[in-house]
Amino acid sequence: MESIAPPTVVPPFLHNSGDMGEHILKYNWAQNSLGPIHRWPQSLCTTLGIMLHSAFPMFLFWSNELVCFYNDAFRPCLATDGKHPAIGKNGKEVWSEVWPFIGPLIEGVMKTGTPVWFENQVLPFYRNGGMGDIYWTFSYSPAYGDEVKINGVLVTCVETTKIGTERKKIEEIEERSRLAINAAELGTFDLNLLTNEVVASERFAAIFGLAHSISQADYVNTIHPDDLVIREKAYQQAYNTGSLEYEARVIWNDKSLHWIKVKGNIYFDDKGKPLKLLGVVQDISAEKFFSERLEKKVKERTEELETAHQSLLQANSYLQHIINLSPEPMQVLEPVFENGELIDFRYKITNNAYAAYANTTPEKLRGKKVGEVFPGYFQTSSFLNIVRTYQSGITDSWEIHYNLDGLDIYNQMSATKFNDDVIVHFTDFTRLKNLELNLVEKLAELERSNANLEEFAHAASHDLKEPIRKIHIFTSKLKSQLHAQLTETDLENFSKIERASQRMGSLVDDLLDYSHVSQQPHQMEPVNLNEKINRVLEDLELDIQQRSGTIHIDNLPVVTGFRRQLQQLFQNLISNALKYSKSGIPPQIHISASLVNEDGKQYHLIKVADNGIGFDAIYSEKIFQIFSRLHNNSEYSGSGIGLSIVKKIVENHQGRIRAESEEGKGSTFFVYLPVK
Ligand code: ADP
Repeated sequence: MESIAPPTVVPPFLHNSGDMGEHILKYNWAQNSLGPIHRWPQSLCTTLGIMLHSAFPMFLFWSNELVCFYNDAFRPCLATDGKHPAIGKNGKEVWSEVWPFIGPLIEGVMKTGTPVWFENQVLPFYRNGGMGDIYWTFSYSPAYGDEVKINGVLVTCVETTKIGTERKKIEEIEERSRLAINAAELGTFDLNLLTNEVVASERFAAIFGLAHSISQADYVNTIHPDDLVIREKAYQQAYNTGSLEYEARVIWNDKSLHWIKVKGNIYFDDKGKPLKLLGVVQDISAEKFFSERLEKKVKERTEELETAHQSLLQANSYLQHIINLSPEPMQVLEPVFENGELIDFRYKITNNAYAAYANTTPEKLRGKKVGEVFPGYFQTSSFLNIVRTYQSGITDSWEIHYNLDGLDIYNQMSATKFNDDVIVHFTDFTRLKNLELNLVEKLAELERSNANLEEFAHAASHDLKEPIRKIHIFTSKLKSQLHAQLTETDLENFSKIERASQRMGSLVDDLLDYSHVSQQPHQMEPVNLNEKINRVLEDLELDIQQRSGTIHIDNLPVVTGFRRQLQQLFQNLISNALKYSKSGIPPQIHISASLVNEDGKQYHLIKVADNGIGFDAIYSEKIFQIFSRLHNNSEYSGSGIGLSIVKKIVENHQGRIRAESEEGKGSTFFVYLPVK
């Protein structure tokens, strides 16, 4: 066998054949099934020459051993820390991880000579120290040997991993959009703005109530006539801004009303001419009808509230009106706290009667603090009393003389807690109080003038006694001196003067008695009334005899009193009983005693009853007034002072007296003396 010398020159197909050409040149082919380069068939050299000089990534599997070759353009596909350098190696070993996919392809091409083409085919691939999904667009075409027999497979390929992953991403995005569109139950449409042709999803048509649509006009026809203007306006705007959005009503064939919401984007050409509109439509009937119902509910509720508010205002105005009618001042107060301490009250409601004290109106007082309007109330018991009622809940009432803040009034106040407020109400009794004060003053004045008068009466009676006595004496003297010269008429005149001076004398005596009993003695003492009456009867003995009177006396008590006055009391009553007897009928007098209870007090009741002329019951009080007489002097002499002395004496004993009588039927005098 002829030995072939190793080439000393670089074969032409490896000239300027890049890094991979270098690799081929340096490779120890003696160890390879292909043998040294200079023995390679022409077909291989030609194929390699084309491949190594091409800028397009190429790979060659040659011979049954599928020996690997590739060019510089292919080299980057193998990256680092991977298969490179794979030149001269067995293809099945180099591409072991994808062999199940490419093995059959290579075999097919080798057998049939039919090239194959794959676009963006993903293949798991080892490079850069790890496996990765690499996208390829490639063709496998037969590479012929020198004997017109397929002896290899030429792979022209381009890695499209970037495009592939982008596409995958787009697919994912598309999938997500589809899911979102489905989840949101959106209908999609694609409207060609040049031809008005519309491509829409089934759901899009369904939302418009159409089974399928023919044209854009079909959709537009379903829109409620009143809402067409909304759609028109939205499109106008979309041509300017690029985005379309509107809500409108559509009427389905069954006449039912539905709400739709359309959203989309307009795509323009380079010159800004609108080309197409991509968009989605959503059925928003449920939320629209819900919000319509909600709106209606809110409106109804607002109206209800407004009515309630109006009735409340009306009720308030009624209340204000009613409490304004009350002449009694009223306030409803709410507490004012500062740092947890109750420091004042605030007016919530007042009435006109109250506001008048501050020269204002209830409206102007509302919300003000009481202390602002009447600062003086902190100095009175009122503030503390209202605080106490607020804290204890117990109703309180008190009297107050409020002479602060320019007022001078007497009030009967009351405070009642109501919820968290206090109702304060008062009665202004200033007028009554002033009357009372006036009365007390007048009474004192009266007492003073009475005392003066009594003093004067006493002094006057005393002074009168002497001149009367003198008149009496000198008249008697004159009468006896002139006795011989006096005519019958003169004597009659003299006795008239005597009688008159006597009457005047007894009047002055009575007046002196009256003034005496007005001046109370200091000490009371036990007085046996039996003894006192006996003394009286002794004094009146002559009179009783002259009138043939009978006196019946029960056992009488011992009372505590003024001895002389009690004697005078019975003297006056018994002498009246004798004096006012019926003419021709002997007087009968009955004096009795008993114990009675009146107004929770015990009294000795002494009754003096007679069978005399009596008097009309209407005068039973009047007869006790000084100088009042029911019978004239010609029939019954008297001064009208006796019973007023009796009354005074009874009052001096803290007792009382009354009389019962009827004309012609006698009289009874009831004397009540307290049991001490
Ligand atoms: P006087 O007897 O001096 O008139 P009194 O004050 O004692 O004055 O009595 C007042 C009047 O009451 C009498 O004038 C008389 O009209 C009437 N009166 C008093 N006591 C009796 C009596 N026992 N019966 C009827 N009338 C009486």
